[in-house]
Amino acid sequence: MIINFENQQPLIEGVSINDLIEKIETPFYVYSQKKITESFNRINIFNKTDIFYSVKANSNQAILTLMKKLGAGADVVSIGELKRAIEAGFDKNKIIFEGVGKSQTDLEFAINNNIRQINIESFEEMGLINSLGKKLNKNIDIGVRINPDIKANTQDKISTGRKKDKFGISIELIDEILTLVKKYNNLNLVGLSCHVGSQIHEINVFEKVFNKMKKTTDILKKNNIKIKFLDLGGGFGVTYNQEKKLDLNAISNLIDKTFRNEEYNISIEPGRFLVANAGILVTKVITSKKNSDINFLITDAGMQTFIRPALYNAFHKIIGLNNNNKKDIYTVAGPICESSDIFANSIELPKQKSGDFLAICDVGAYAFVMASNYNTICLPPEILINEKNYSIIRKKENISEIIKKDIIPDWL
Ligand code: PLP
Repeated sequence: MIINFENQQPLIEGVSINDLIEKIETPFYVYSQKKITESFNRINIFNKTDIFYSVKANSNQAILTLMKKLGAGADVVSIGELKRAIEAGFDKNKIIFEGVGKSQTDLEFAINNNIRQINIESFEEMGLINSLGKKLNKNIDIGVRINPDIKANTQDKISTGRKKDKFGISIELIDEILTLVKKYNNLNLVGLSCHVGSQIHEINVFEKVFNKMKKTTDILKKNNIKIKFLDLGGGFGVTYNQEKKLDLNAISNLIDKTFRNEEYNISIEPGRFLVANAGILVTKVITSKKNSDINFLITDAGMQTFIRPALYNAFHKIIGLNNNNKKDIYTVAGPICESSDIFANSIELPKQKSGDFLAICDVGAYAFVMASNYNTICLPPEILINEKNYSIIRKKENISEIIKKDIIPDWL
């Protein structure tokens, strides 16, 4: 946990959260630069393996700038993320563009920017890129995202590598991939990629993936295709609750063992691992109430601020920022008019009253990026802390900005 209490004051890297609360209206996200850096250094131990930060996890320009400084490339899944990565100054040769639904405009933009690699996910996309290559008189480097048909043993909604999932091209269609690579003159197959899901802790899942990808590169070799890049995806699990710390040494050994004699460059695309544990969401208790025998705390953050509990039933630890020694059992809920707007059911907290503050923990990944304006509520600010300093890295919206985006047609 990034918060520590000194004299009952909650601090992150020496910055008092209570001071932040005095200056900045809740709810707000706070990230610890130290924790992100530590996570980066923890995973940056794989031999000859490049890290491409999965921008979707947290795409704030300050976080991207930090990742670039730490030495990461960028893995992007939309033209917006691609523009963010370029704007943050990532070397274009360190950007990979993937995603199951890239439009022609997206692809042309990526091609014109000469990024390292576009990972394609369908035969149609392969044909489209080849025709764009013809039109632009270019040979385009592509990777193929393989769907290896491996169950990640993670939540159904964050599993991506089973045959029935929409992602990648089935490993069973490798012959067809080879035929098309030979047929399409404006494509160079330079890489393979895969990503079977998120929040994976079981080493044997990584082992299965690595073995299948190694076999696939062997098939390519037999067909005289020497790839330059093998992208093993993200999915490295973090601890939200009782999960064991991921055994990165075991994964490192597996990479060594499986790919030791290969010439291609290996990359990974961690997102959650780098940022999840580095963030908290600070929220105020607006109201407390008792319905039936349940003590509800209604907070100013809701499912539109942080949707993972409502969307995935995800567990996130919640702590009280006050220092009341008495405890009680609470259900913590947001203000949104949806019954799924619950952050935690029946948890023990220091006794709370309206006006107290809570921190929802481990919200650095897939949190702010999934926030919305549902119920016409502003997106919250984000704050980055670094060694006793803090900086607002995204301003709070205001409601008039939101309303102004709507256009009333002149017939009304
Ligand atoms: N790579 C791809 C292709 C993904 O789709 C994702 C997440 O969905 C990631 C990497 C990052 O995954 P994680 O945040 O679990 O590391």
